[in-house]
Formats: sequence, C-alpha cells, structure tokens
Amino acid sequence: MSEKPSHAPLIQFPVVDDELHVGGVSVRQLAAQVGRTPFFAYDREAMARRVRDLRETLPDGVSVHYAIKANPMPAVVDHMAPLVDGLDVASLGELRIALDSGTAAAEISFAGPGKGDVELRGAVAAGITLNLESAGEFRRAVAIGETLGIAPRVAVRVNPDFELKSSGMKMSGGPKPFGVDAEQVPELLREIGASGAHFRGLHIFSGSQNLRPESLIEAQDATFELAYRLADDAPGPIEMLNIGGGFGIPYFPGEQRLDLGSVSENLGVRLDQCRARLGDVEVVVELGRYLVAEAGVYVCEVVDRKESRGLTYLVTNGGLHHHLAASGNFGQVIRKNYPVVTAHRVQGGPRETVSVVGPLCTPLDILGDRMELGAADVGDLIVVLQSGAYGFTASPHLFLGHPAPLQVLV
Ligand SMILES: *Cc1c(COP(=O)(O)O)cnc(C)c1O
Repeated sequence: MSEKPSHAPLIQFPVVDDELHVGGVSVRQLAAQVGRTPFFAYDREAMARRVRDLRETLPDGVSVHYAIKANPMPAVVDHMAPLVDGLDVASLGELRIALDSGTAAAEISFAGPGKGDVELRGAVAAGITLNLESAGEFRRAVAIGETLGIAPRVAVRVNPDFELKSSGMKMSGGPKPFGVDAEQVPELLREIGASGAHFRGLHIFSGSQNLRPESLIEAQDATFELAYRLADDAPGPIEMLNIGGGFGIPYFPGEQRLDLGSVSENLGVRLDQCRARLGDVEVVVELGRYLVAEAGVYVCEVVDRKESRGLTYLVTNGGLHHHLAASGNFGQVIRKNYPVVTAHRVQGGPRETVSVVGPLCTPLDILGDRMELGAADVGDLIVVLQSGAYGFTASPHLFLGHPAPLQVLV
C-alpha cells in the first residue's frame, strides 16, 4: 500500500483523537445532530477561510465571483454572497437562489447554453447580466426586452480560439456549444451596438479543474490578448471582463494543491496592462469548486460488511445516487478514489484494505476501490472528503429510489 501515492493532506479539517471534526464537532456527533445518514455537511468557516486566503493571494482589484452551480444550497449561497463580489448562475432556479441571497442584480451574471425565452425573460426582468451564448440568444433577449420595456444587460461569452491545457474539463477551443466563436464575436458586437441593449463586456471561460499554474497563466495571457483584440469592435467600454477561473483542487492520489503564487503575480501584471488598454474595467474570476469543494464532506454509514474472494466490502447506505463524482462517473476517464476516511479512525487504529460500495445494484456504485482505511464495522461512519462541490445536485437521487441525502451547513 505504501508504494501508492497518497491523497493530498487533509488539512482542511481538524482531527481530534483520530476523529474527523467538521464544523467544530466530531462527525459522529454531527451525524447524531443531523438525525440520519447519508448527509452532506459544509463547513462555513472553511469556506470563509478559503475566500479570505484567495483574496490575500490575488492582486487587489480582481473581483471574485462564486459560480453557484458548484453548490447551490441556499444556505451556502447566503453564506458566500457577502464574502464574494458577485454570483454566477446557470439556470432560472439558480437565479432565484442568487436573488434570495440579497445579491444585487448588477452583481449577478447568467451563463449557459440553451437559455429559453422563460430564462431570458427572467434574466432581463431581474436586470442581471446575460452572458450570451449565441447570436440567436441575443436576438431573442432583445425582443423580450422590448416587450418588457427593459434594455437587456449583455456580455458576450466567447469560445476562445485556444484551450486551457491540462484541464479536468475543457470548455473552449474547437467546436463547442458554449459561447460564440471568437471569430464570430466582432459581428455580434456590432449587432449589439446597433440595438438598445446595454453592453457589459466579455466572458472568456476556457476550462475547469486545473492544478497547473503554467497552464493557467498561459490561458490568462491568451484571454487578455483575445479581449484586447475583441475590444476594437466593442460597441462601448468593456465594463466587465470575466476571465473565467479554472482553479482546481486536489481530488486524487498524487495530486498536489494548486500554488496560486505565480498565477496571481502574472494576473497583477496583466491587470495593470488591461487597465492601461481598456480603461476602468472590472476583471472577474469566477470560481466554483475552488471556493467550496474542500469545505464539504459526504457521510454515509456501513450497513453491511462482507468478504468476497479475498476482498472485504464495506456496503454503505451512500453511493453514486448521492455522489456521482466520488463514484467516478461524473466525467472521469479512469476511475480514481476520492479521499475517503473512517470517521473515527482517520490515520491510526487497525487499518485494512477494503472497497467501499453503495446499495445500488450496479458495479458502478463504488465510493472507494481497494483503499486502506481505519477498520470499520456495521454502524460506523465513512466520510468522503472534497465533497462540497458537484455532489448533492450533480447526482441522480432518483436512481433506485432510495431516500435523498440531507444537507447541512455547519
Ligand atoms: C461550471 C462553471 C464554472 C465553475 O467551474 P469550477 O470548476 O467549479 O470552478 C465557472 N464558470 C462557468 C461558465 C461554468 O460553466
């Protein structure tokens, strides 16, 4: 076992007497408080600390937006809203949660392909910024704005002519359903200028879950250069330049925490240059998982323990129906284990190699494949770390009809 690369250090939560503590209490106490397993718990202080540390690292004057699709639990969004400079939403449901948090419409933007007329009407009526994904979307937004008597506030989401290398998810370069191809943007900018719409700026998001500073720097450089080129055709000042984010977190064995030092240094240089070239523009980074993923855990309970031909299985009441990503079925090419621990035996105790599986009748329902864990028996709690993003809302709760997990912010 010791030959295998281990997970990134679990520094985000205290371990007291070898028991994981989340939100200031042991996971077992927390489970008693919640009332039943499985559940997701999000630690508010861990989220606040992450935002604070990030702001200390990033150059002054860079706005931080929270992309709430990573974790749209209303209590989480309410907690995050005053800590960040704005919220990015991807549906009308998320827009309602964002508005409920008290965030001003001027600080909310809405990206995502396939905005129907209902979404466009909701966004225009609310006065938030639409990150346009196509010329067709723009024309429908203008028509809707006319019926409402409100000028739509629009930014153009650009599908850049480069990609963010080494990303968990590539969102740019080549044909993409996201954004308007960079080469088509000048024409759309002219069309916006000829309409009554309020032009806000550009949104250039090239990818997600990146742990390599040099790739992020390369993409940021290319993003600013592209923005300068497109600004020549802009119908007015670029008020906002959303440069995406893509900051990753370590999930899998061997991955290291992203060091943002060089990324921030580069961003500082670029920011000054950007102001010199484009004037008083708000530069925004939009982050989802980087802000919340490490602050969350998923807790499930061992319901059976069995041996099968030399392998010990811990069968739990949690699984892919609650946490698709931890099962390896949310975009991973090769399944790798999330960090998983036995709640009361994080590092010590008798250790054993086990597979942690869920209750579903499918071989895909794996939370930990042949991992070394503190020994656990029926009734013990198993914790999946790095679970504060793309967990609860990114999982097929209805599959097999077991109860949905609970969520708490602690
Ligand atoms: C999903 C998404 C994000 C958030 O991505 P993370 O990897 O969670 O940081 C940001 N911006 C856009 C446009 C997105 O679609």
